[in-house]
Amino acid sequence: MKFETLAIHKGNTNSDKNNPVVQPITLSTTFHHGEGEMLYTRANNPNRQSLEQVIAVLERGEDAAAFSSGNAAGTAVFQALEPGSHIVAPDDMYHGLHNSMTMLFKGVHEVSFVDMSNLEEVKKATRPNTKLFWVETPSNPLLKVTDIRKISELAKAQKALLVCDNTFATPVFQNPLLLGADMVMHSSTKYFGGHSDILGGALVTKSKNDFWEKIKTVQKVGGAVPSAMDCYWLCRSIRTLAYRMKGHAEHAMILAEYLSVHPKVEKVHYPGLKSHPGHEVAAGQMSGFGGIVSFQIKGDAQRADQFISHLQLFANATSLGGVESLIERRAAVEGPDTKTPPNLIRISVGLEHTDDSLEDLDHAFSKV
Ligand SMILES: *Cc1c(COP(=O)(O)O)cnc(C)c1O
Repeated sequence: MKFETLAIHKGNTNSDKNNPVVQPITLSTTFHHGEGEMLYTRANNPNRQSLEQVIAVLERGEDAAAFSSGNAAGTAVFQALEPGSHIVAPDDMYHGLHNSMTMLFKGVHEVSFVDMSNLEEVKKATRPNTKLFWVETPSNPLLKVTDIRKISELAKAQKALLVCDNTFATPVFQNPLLLGADMVMHSSTKYFGGHSDILGGALVTKSKNDFWEKIKTVQKVGGAVPSAMDCYWLCRSIRTLAYRMKGHAEHAMILAEYLSVHPKVEKVHYPGLKSHPGHEVAAGQMSGFGGIVSFQIKGDAQRADQFISHLQLFANATSLGGVESLIERRAAVEGPDTKTPPNLIRISVGLEHTDDSLEDLDHAFSKV
C-alpha cells in the first residue's frame, strides 16, 4: 500500500467489541491479568501500540518507540549508548538535544560538534571509540543538507550507529532508513502532530537488534512515555500527514521564491531553491523540500524584529510544523552562544492560502 493509505489505516486498530470505525482511547492504566498482552500503561497501551505501528511503517522500519517529547526520544539514544562512547554530531544540532548531550552526558560520553555536510570534517572528527553519528537534515535554522548515504558509509566502516533526526523532512519526503541510517528520531510535536497542540517524540529502528532492546528498556524503565490521549491525537493527525506536507512544501516554495527576489532580503535558505548549496544532495535523497524557510533581512536584528512586529497572519512564536504559519528571529531564541546570524528569520510555512500570507509579508516589508 502507498503512504497515504498506510497513514490512514495503520494507526487505527480495533480494540473494542462494538467494532467502532475509529479506535477508542484506552485510558485505563492497568489491564486484567491473563487476558491480553497489556499489563500496565507505562509498558504499553493500545493507543501507543497503534502509534508505534503507524510510525514504524511510514518510516520503513521494523519497530518504533514513542516518547513524551522529541528530546526524550533523542536522549534515550544517548542513555542507551555504552558510557565512554564518542559521538559525532552537527555543530548546528537542534539546541535542545545539543543541551541534552552537553548538560546531561558530560563526563559520560565524548562529543565532537562538526559541520556534518562537510565529509572531510566528519572523517577528521572520527575516533577509535566513535559509536554514534548524529545527522539532522535539513538542519535548523539554516536548512543545511547532509548526505545521509555518504555518512552511512563512514558509520558502517566504523561499526558505529547512524541516527537521523528526520523532524524537518518527515517520512513523506525522506526515509533515512532506506538511505543507510540505523535509526530515525522525530519530534512528533512538529509535523506529526501538525496542529501545535501535542508534545511527543519517537524513534524508529531498521532492525530489532540488541541496541534496540536497550532503547525499549530506556523507554519502559525510564518512563518518558506519552499518554494514551496524546497517542490517540497523534494517530489522528498522522492520517492527514501526507496531504499537509504536500501543502507545506508547495507554500514554502512560493514564499522562498517571493523572498529570493525581494529587494529588502539579503539571503534565503530553502533547499528547494537551485541556489541553495545543498539543493542537489537534497534532490537526491528527498522527494520534497519541506515547509521551513529561513531568510536574512537586509539590516540588523532590530530591523528583523520590526519586520516581524508588523505581521498579522504569522504568529511570532517558536516551534514549527503546525497548520498556522509561525515566524521568529531565531538568534533571539537560541541565546547568546548561537552562531545563527542576528538578522535571520525562520518561517514555519502554514497551510493558509498563500495569497493571504504574501499580502501580509508585503505589508510588513512596506513598514521597514
Ligand atoms: C523540536 C525539535 C526537537 C525536540 O523535540 P521536542 O518535542 O520539542 O522535545 C528535536 N529536533 C528537532 C529538529 C526539532 O525541531
